[in-house]
Amino acid sequence: MTALDTTIVDSALPDGVHTEILIGGAWRPGRDGATFTDLNPATGLRLVEVAAGSAEDIDDAVRAARAQLSGDWAAAPGAARGAILHRVADLIERDGDLLARLEALDIGKPIGQPSMLDIPNAAGTFRHFAGWADKITGQSIPTAGYFGRPTHSYTVREPVGVIGAIIPWNTPLMIAAWKLAPALAAGNTLVVKPPEDAPLSILHLASLLIEAGLPDGVVNVVPGLGEVAGEALVAHPDVDKISFTGSPRVGRHILKVAADTFKRTTLELGGKSPQIILADADVEAAINGAAMGLFFNQGEVCAAGTRVLVHRSHYDQVVEGLAAAAAAQVLGDPLDPATTMGALVNAKQRDTVLDYIEAGRTDGARLVAGGERGGVEGFFVQPTIFADATNDMRIAREEIFGPVGTVIPFDDADEAIRIANDTAYGLAASIWTSDVAQAHSLAGQVRAGAVWVNGWAAIDPALPWGGMKTSGVGRELGWAGIVANTEEKVVTVVL
Ligand code: NAD
Repeated sequence: MTALDTTIVDSALPDGVHTEILIGGAWRPGRDGATFTDLNPATGLRLVEVAAGSAEDIDDAVRAARAQLSGDWAAAPGAARGAILHRVADLIERDGDLLARLEALDIGKPIGQPSMLDIPNAAGTFRHFAGWADKITGQSIPTAGYFGRPTHSYTVREPVGVIGAIIPWNTPLMIAAWKLAPALAAGNTLVVKPPEDAPLSILHLASLLIEAGLPDGVVNVVPGLGEVAGEALVAHPDVDKISFTGSPRVGRHILKVAADTFKRTTLELGGKSPQIILADADVEAAINGAAMGLFFNQGEVCAAGTRVLVHRSHYDQVVEGLAAAAAAQVLGDPLDPATTMGALVNAKQRDTVLDYIEAGRTDGARLVAGGERGGVEGFFVQPTIFADATNDMRIAREEIFGPVGTVIPFDDADEAIRIANDTAYGLAASIWTSDVAQAHSLAGQVRAGAVWVNGWAAIDPALPWGGMKTSGVGRELGWAGIVANTEEKVVTVVL
C-alpha cells in the first residue's frame, strides 16, 4: 500500500540526548547562545532545539583539536589508538537501538534500516580502521645515489593534522564513521560539523568517543548551519583538510574556499547511478535489486540507482515489476517496524521531489506508480516510477534525492553503456547479467567509482569509496582512507 494510513503517535526523544557543542571534552551551548530547530520529518513538528555553533565556536574547536596534535594523542602508539576505536565499535553496538531510534526520528527513515545498515556499517568501519592503526607503514625505496655516494631513502606516513568533517543528513552516523575512523587511526584530530537536519546520532556518537577513552579535544563536534559553522570551518587557516560529503553545489563552493589556504579536500558528492539489466539477467532478482536501489532510505541515497536501463526484451516485465514494488512499499511511521519507506527529511526536499515528478510528467515520461504526496502531515512522497523516459529528460539527468525511478529501454550492451555514461555523475553503477565475461567487460567501461554486478550498494569499510566526474574528488575507506588521511614524507640519508 502506498497511502499513508498510519498515525504518528510516538515521537518522543530518548532521555539524555545531546544537543550541545562538544569542545575539549566538555559539552556547552554556543558562545552566542543561538539554537536551530531540529524537526521530525514524519510530523513536521519540532523535535528539539540544538546549539547553533558560530565562527567563534569553530575557532575554539579548532584550537582544541590542534592542541592534541602535540598532546596525549600525538604520543599514543597505533595500537592504543586501535584499542579506542575497537571500544567505539562495541559502544555503537551496545547503543544500537538508541541510535536507530535517533536516526528514524531525525531523518524519517524506517527504524529497521539503520539497524540493518548504518549501525553495523559504522561499527564495522571503526573495527576495520582499528586494525589499520598500528599498520600504517612507509616504504624503503632504492635510488641512484647522490653525487656518487649511496643513499638510503624511505617514506613515512604522518597525520594530515586537524581535519574538518562536514556531513550530510541522509546517513549521518555511517558517514561520520567513514570520516572519523580512518582519520583517528592515522593519528589526526577533528572538528565535525553535523547536518542541521539530523545532528542527533552524531552527537550521541561523540559521547561514545569520550566513553571509549578518546582524549579530550581529539574530536570536537560543532552542530550548526552550513553557511555559518560549515563555512567557518572551511575557511579556518588552522584546519589542514576538509572531508566533505554532500551536494555538488556546496562541494564546488568548498573547493573554492579551501583553495585559499591550500587545504587538502575530499569531496563525496551526488549521483545519478545507472542500473543496467541485460538480456541474460535474472530478471526477478534484478527487479528486486533495482527496487531496493530506488526506495531504500526514501531514495535519499547518493548511490541510488535512479536510472534503470533495461534490455528491450525485459522492458515490460521490469516496468510492471517496479510498479508493483512501489505499490508494495509500506509508507508510514518511521518507528513502526512494518514501515518500509518513511518521510523525506524536510519540506524543501519534499517539494523538490514533487517538482521533479511534475517535470517528468511535463517532459512526457509515463507515470506508472506513485506521483503524489503521502498523507497530509509530515514530508512523505509516494514511491514513484516513470517508464518510457529518455536520458535527456530532467528526471534522468539531475539528482532528485527522493523515491523516483526512471526506466529507459536499450537494444544492446553498447547502447546501455553509452546511456549509462551520458551523465555528469560517476558514483556507482549496477549491472545485472549471468555472463561473467560480459560483466567484467562492462564494469571496465562504466565511468563510476563503484560497480556492483548482480547487486546494489554492496559496500564495505575495506573497499575504497568515491566518485568520478561530478560525484566527487578523492576516496575514503580501505587503504585509500589511510592515504587520504596521511601526508607521505620522504627521508633520504646520504651514506
Ligand atoms: P548539502 O551539501 O546541502 O549539505 C551537506 C553538509 O554541508 C551539511 O552539513 C551542511 O550544513 C554543510 N554546508 C552547507 N553549506 C555549507 C557551506 N557553505 N560551507 C560548509 N558547509 C556547508 O547536502 P545534503 O542536502 O545534506 O545531502 C545531500 C547530498 O549529499 C546529495 O547530493 C547526496 O548525493 C550527497 N551525498 C553523497 C554521498 C557520497 O558518499 N558520495 C553520501 C551521502 C550523501
